[in-house]
Amino acid sequence: MNCLFCKIIDREIPATIHYEDENFLVFDDIAPKAPVHKLIIPKKHIHNINELAEEDLPLIAKVFTIAQNVAKQFGIDQSGYRLLNNCNADAGQTVFHLHFHLLGGQKLSDTLG
Ligand code: 5GP
Ligand code: ZN
Repeated sequence: MNCLFCKIIDREIPATIHYEDENFLVFDDIAPKAPVHKLIIPKKHIHNINELAEEDLPLIAKVFTIAQNVAKQFGIDQSGYRLLNNCNADAGQTVFHLHFHLLGGQKLSDTLG
């Protein structure tokens, strides 16, 4: 499958990886929008939220635990952070493998739309 994030999972493309388990990978975004900008991705190739099956929901719930831990690891759990997903064109999704941005380390923009 010609998917950028699957290639990062398979180590065909390098990335700065901060966490890995059986089901997830966390790595630096290549074009950070904040001092801390990590991507949390399931290893399972899911196109985007629209393709999330009910059976995937227990897996995806773990994103919150990983976000908690990564935020702590990078010292932004108390200062604050944003966990963000883009789905399709209007949201600006550019990589079609489900991923969650974890952003922090500065006061973030107060606009979401
Ligand atoms: P989206 O716009 O789909 O929500 O987010 C895709 C993210 O992937 C962008 O923030 C972009 O900077 C990041 N990205 C694109 N190509 C690469 C890459 O080759 N390596 C890494 N680490 N991040 C990438
Ligand atoms: Zn993929």
